[in-house]
Amino acid sequence: MIDRSASAVKPAQMPNPSRAALIDRLPKAELHLHIEGSLEPELLFALAKRNAVAIPFASVEEVRAAYSFTNLQDFLDIYYQGMSVLQTEQDFYDLTWAYLERAAADTVRHVEIFFDPQGHTERGVAFETALNGIERALIDGEAQLGISYRIIMCFLRHLSEEDAFATLDQALPHLDRIDGVGLDSSEVGHPPAKFARVFAKARKLGLHVTAHAGEEGPPEYVYEALDLLEVERIDHGNRALEDAALVSRIVGEGLTLTVCPLSNLKLCVIKDIAASPVKRMLDLGLKATINSDDPAYFGGYINANFHAVAEALDLTEAEIVQLAENSFTGSFLPVLDSARHLAEIAEVANG
Ligand SMILES: [Zn+2]
Repeated sequence: MIDRSASAVKPAQMPNPSRAALIDRLPKAELHLHIEGSLEPELLFALAKRNAVAIPFASVEEVRAAYSFTNLQDFLDIYYQGMSVLQTEQDFYDLTWAYLERAAADTVRHVEIFFDPQGHTERGVAFETALNGIERALIDGEAQLGISYRIIMCFLRHLSEEDAFATLDQALPHLDRIDGVGLDSSEVGHPPAKFARVFAKARKLGLHVTAHAGEEGPPEYVYEALDLLEVERIDHGNRALEDAALVSRIVGEGLTLTVCPLSNLKLCVIKDIAASPVKRMLDLGLKATINSDDPAYFGGYINANFHAVAEALDLTEAEIVQLAENSFTGSFLPVLDSARHLAEIAEVANG
């Protein structure tokens, strides 16, 4: 879906050093990050070697060259291929730790991490192997890097409802370690309605719920995510802007949108970064946030996403601060924890 509404947007602005410095210093939460999408080509190669997994690339350069996509499915094909090198708990630990070090460098203080259990269980890697490795790194990250976390397991929407129920069953012994469920993978043709019953069960279990909606799918999918899945957040949500009534409703309900600018660009959801909906969302009163989605594949971590939209849309410092604040108020952190981060944001913004 190409967004043609960018014609009225100004061309890219010159870098603004004080705005850039503010981005680098502001505390932020990342709410839309698929840990498997943070697999950098170098680590992919190292893990392929460690586990003797054959991959169809001869060099890191070849892998990077393959990261050229025309749509979501194009990317997903290579994303699932990359996952094949993740075999042991230590692999998941190393993957997660590498992300956390990058996040710490971008002053991320809190992350709500997605993982795709079905991407692993369907190739014979146990649910626990992935969860244990990811969680162990997150525990170390909290102790050593000061990054708090939540874990969200996503259902792959191109698979069946029955598969999703089986995955939720696998999670039952670990509900004290999993905070929420999400919905990702190929959106078009797999509407939220397909998973209404699974999400109802997840909510009954006390899990938070979020879903990808309106990335490539139409506004109707966003309505379904709200009405049938009863999501607390909307991941992406770009196409909600096509429906004024939907926008009013999301504003009224105070729901957060986890926007991923460089992902949108790489997957051709927008034709250039100046067409990112971030500023329009803020202008409409929507609680937009900035996130990196699958940073190894899309060319940048959270700060790179902030810098790209700040320059292309000429965001004010107040708008950048708003985006950072939204990331905490839209998180699943308790209010008191969010307040502590908001106070730190104010300190940085005023300092
Ligand atoms: Zn995503």
